[in-house]
Formats: sequence, structure tokens, C-alpha cells
Amino acid sequence: PRSSRYRGRFAPTPSGPLHFGSLVAALGSYLDARAAGGQWLVRIEDIDPPRCPQGAASTILRQLETFGLEWDEAIMWQHTRGDAYQQALDQLIQLGLAYPCNCSRKQWQAFEIYPGWCREGVCDANKPVAWRLRSDLGKRPTCWQDRLFGEQRFDPAELGDVVLKRKDGLWAYQLAVVVDDAEQQITDVVRGLDLLDNTPWQHQLQSALQLPQPRYLHLPLIVTTEGQKLSKQNLAPALSENEQGVRRQLFQALEALDQAPPQALATESPATQLHWAIANWSLQRLRPTAHRQTPASMPPS
Ligand code: GLU
Repeated sequence: PRSSRYRGRFAPTPSGPLHFGSLVAALGSYLDARAAGGQWLVRIEDIDPPRCPQGAASTILRQLETFGLEWDEAIMWQHTRGDAYQQALDQLIQLGLAYPCNCSRKQWQAFEIYPGWCREGVCDANKPVAWRLRSDLGKRPTCWQDRLFGEQRFDPAELGDVVLKRKDGLWAYQLAVVVDDAEQQITDVVRGLDLLDNTPWQHQLQSALQLPQPRYLHLPLIVTTEGQKLSKQNLAPALSENEQGVRRQLFQALEALDQAPPQALATESPATQLHWAIANWSLQRLRPTAHRQTPASMPPS
């Protein structure tokens, strides 16, 4: 093992079962961790109950098991983490980096990003407030080296004051992900390219809260033949539940990660495929292009 300190994670939002795109993200993060001799954790990002149908989380966990992706340690459930998020928010408020806001989307619809009107005091003291992060304070621009896409440079102020806690009291992804990556001592975040432009906010939060910064590796997104990101809305192909289908899809996921698995592996068990894939994992093979198409043999469900 190159580094036994490596700690990676897969952090699905249980808004539905995994599809081929989320399988590729899970597999990439799993292989990168195992090839480094590291730990691989699972965190269920269930902070938004209305978006998470009953049973979706257990379906996801069963799917991971079916594809042979075994995790270490206890699963972290974000719905249990409210106190930690509140503590972090309190800290940000104390630092003058978070502020209450009760503007409605309609009020600022003419702007691309929220113009920060409530920074100097809420517009209407009688309405429920959301909490936002000040993007104009702190280190700018934020730069980092993505392990696949290379040098990244964003000015958070151009991305706007992201919501940390919503008006309805629900926690927002940006704050929860940062607090929990730190709590789980994650050294390496491996996830889909759709989250690349969220990373600057996460950097800002990490430096404000004095939390360590993991390394980041964003993976090409799996898209439909029309070029759309896979989702339930555009009928992402379902993951198979029968043995043959599972083997084929795992093989296709290795191909989507440009790992060039030998054809003979396509009908082997998940354990055999993963054993090969860990031993041969190569980030150099992965081409830094934004998209991979869903394999043609996978019709919409
Ligand atoms: N929960 C997020 C999602 O399912 C992923 C969070 C992350 O990997 O940072 O899209």
C-alpha cells in the first residue's frame, strides 16, 4: 500500500436508487482508495427528507453490496448530524462570515447570483431567514490542483453567497459536506465533475472553520446520447439486479473510467473484476474530458 492514511468516501444523496453514473462515481472513489491501501467510507447525505423517498438509502446500500463495493466503518447518516452543523454555523456567524437572509428568489430574479442585499442586515425582520456564506471575504480567488483536471481557479465572489441553512430549517449540502468530510477525516474526495464548481465554497468553509483540505479528484460525467447528465428525470438506465447484468455493468463502469479491462473480465464475478481493477488502477489512463456516454447496450428502464 502506498499510503495507509488514505481515507476516501462515497456520499450519495438517497433521492433514488443508484444509476450507471453514480455507479461510476462510487467505483472510481472505491478503486482510488483501495489501490492506495486506504479506507473507503459511505455517508448517506439525507439532509433533505422531502427529496429522499423511504427505502432509497437501503436500496443504495444493497446495490453497493451487489457490485462488491464493501465499505469500512459505520455508515454516517447526515440526518443525525444537525448539532455539528449548527456548531459550525455558529462559528461562522461569530466570524462574521455567515448572515441571515430572507430575500425571496423572485426579488433577485434579474440577477445571476444573489446580490448580497442582506449582508448589512435583513430586509424584512418578520420573515423566516436562510443563512448565507459571505463569498466576498476571505481568501480569493481559491485555487487548487484537481488530480484529473489540473489547476482550478475560481473567485467565490463570482459564485455568490451560498445558502448554508435554508429558510425551512433544512441544512444545505455545502456546509454538511465540509463538516462531515472533516469529521470522517477524509483525505481524498473523488466524485462527479458536476461538483467541481462547488469546491470553491467548500474550500472557503474549510479555511474559515480551520479544517484540513482534502485532495480532490473529479470524474467525467456519464451522459445520455443527448448529452444530458443521467438522472431519474431523463430515465437513467437502472442498475441490474441479476448476476449477468451486474457483471456486465461493472465491466462497463471500468471502461467508462478508461481502465481498459481485458474483455475476458466482462463475465467474471464482481470480486474478480474488482481484484483486477484495484491491482491495475491507473489515474494516468483516465482522460480528462468532461463526458462519457452511457453504454449503448443499456436502454432506458
Ligand atoms: N451527495 C452528493 C450527490 O449525491 C455528493 C456529495 C459529494 O460527493 O461531495 O450528488
